[in-house]
Amino acid sequence: MTPSGHSPGSEWRKAEPWPERRRAPGYPLKVKLPVSILAVVAVLVALVGIRLDSSALFFFGSLGLFTVGWLAVCSVTLCRFHCPECGQRVPFKLPPLGEPIVFPCPRCRVIWTTGMDHTQAD
Ligand SMILES: [Zn+2]
Repeated sequence: MTPSGHSPGSEWRKAEPWPERRRAPGYPLKVKLPVSILAVVAVLVALVGIRLDSSALFFFGSLGLFTVGWLAVCSVTLCRFHCPECGQRVPFKLPPLGEPIVFPCPRCRVIWTTGMDHTQAD
């Protein structure tokens, strides 16, 4: 038994394909649900602004609210992804446009898919 980590023979493992692709539980709802709620709240704020006849102020207010909220949602869901299998945190890397957002866990060798891609996320 060798401890996992820096063994000279670990290089070959990288070349092996990662056969398992699994859907991360709760995704993409975990991201889309709060974003949808945010969108509704932002629209409501904008509507209130129209009624109060200061729509420009409220328009930018709701836009700001949505942007800040969206960033908050992403930071707690996408940037703090923990592998459902081993609990290890998997760093978030934004894929190129059109590519799916996935979280590959090096420990379990499982690619967790979120059902979202880069364009859908924003
Ligand atoms: Zn894992």
